[in-house]
Amino acid sequence: SVLRSQPRLHSTALISAALCLALPVLAQAASVDPRRAHGAAVVLDTHFDTPANFSRPGWSILNRHDTELDDSQVDLPRMIEGGVDGGFFVIFTPQGPRGPAGNAAARDHAVFRASEIREMVARHSEHFALALTADDASRILAEKKRFVFMSMENGSPVAGDLSLMKTFHDLGVRMIGPVHFRNSDLADSSTEAPVWGGLSPAGRSFVAEANRLGMVIDGSHASDQALDQMIALSEAPIILSHSGCKDIFDHPRNVDDARLKALAAKGGVIQINAFSAYMVPTPRIPEREAALAELAKSLGISGREMTPAQRRAFVEGRRPIDARWPVPRANMDDFMKHMLHALALVGPDHVGVSGDFDGGGGIEGLEDVTGFPEITRRLLAAGYGQADIDKIWGGNALRVLRAAEAVRDRLQTGKAD
Ligand SMILES: [Zn+2]
Repeated sequence: SVLRSQPRLHSTALISAALCLALPVLAQAASVDPRRAHGAAVVLDTHFDTPANFSRPGWSILNRHDTELDDSQVDLPRMIEGGVDGGFFVIFTPQGPRGPAGNAAARDHAVFRASEIREMVARHSEHFALALTADDASRILAEKKRFVFMSMENGSPVAGDLSLMKTFHDLGVRMIGPVHFRNSDLADSSTEAPVWGGLSPAGRSFVAEANRLGMVIDGSHASDQALDQMIALSEAPIILSHSGCKDIFDHPRNVDDARLKALAAKGGVIQINAFSAYMVPTPRIPEREAALAELAKSLGISGREMTPAQRRAFVEGRRPIDARWPVPRANMDDFMKHMLHALALVGPDHVGVSGDFDGGGGIEGLEDVTGFPEITRRLLAAGYGQADIDKIWGGNALRVLRAAEAVRDRLQTGKAD
């Protein structure tokens, strides 16, 4: 990856010097230039919710945006500054009512969003290219472009008819999770009381079809039981595209140590999330929520859709509400607790990164993709070296995709691994 900014060299040099004196064992890793280490790695994020911005009036991924002004966290100029080579761009579908009507509406939404991702890549083909295989990532980087994998968060678009999984695979989707905040027809959510005891019967078929097609199965948002069953049933490794460690912070969206070990034993990866409410205690403040609802109402805003003028007015009007009822926010120290815990538990072959950007992610010091080099700096300071950095930033996620491709080849052609 290529970096334009120069992160705090001065303090890094001091830390390196201190480590060389105090900890000779760490000296080699700590003396690596963080910019060079970050630039040398293939840097990807496995969960960009950015496609939700593609239809915003006046918003272009080619322009630099400011999170403070429009809440967006990923665009080409900031990817370049953050040394980000690509990522999995998400088709996110909110869970509506379970059953045929809800699933059909979800299908239509997902086809539309998939088209928007493809259109973005086609329109800006001098900067981006659609990646369909793990090997495509390095091929596209060699063309000096950024790679765009497609993924799907929540399986409700395919839940009514699992043959649609092939349709979405044909459109380019290479990673898919069965469920989001609410239970789907495929699986129980980690954030709702269970109805299936894990996967539904259709959810079990979903796992088999994902294996057959070579789609990586994403266990983020799935209930513990559903995750256990996916790990047991899947012939390919499972990814947690944006999750944290329950033993660091007890939240249903985080995964406990025993499950992380089971995930890793089958070759899987946890991509550590930067979603504040899953990292530090975040009390609900009814007065704040009422004030935000009143602000939205006064501006004529309903849901996520806003005109540029509405968005500016909303972001402006939110400031005094934030000041009056501040919400505790996680910071980089909190993020690194999850990261270093996972690394110590399952090792550098089974840990990666996702900011959950444009989907609610973002913490102090990691407000958007420009903050990624700081993670590299901290990993080096913690004693990890270039080979580890390479795996954590992209190598592990691409290995999991490659493993899914190998399972597909074996299942479809009957040839040995
Ligand atoms: Zn999510």
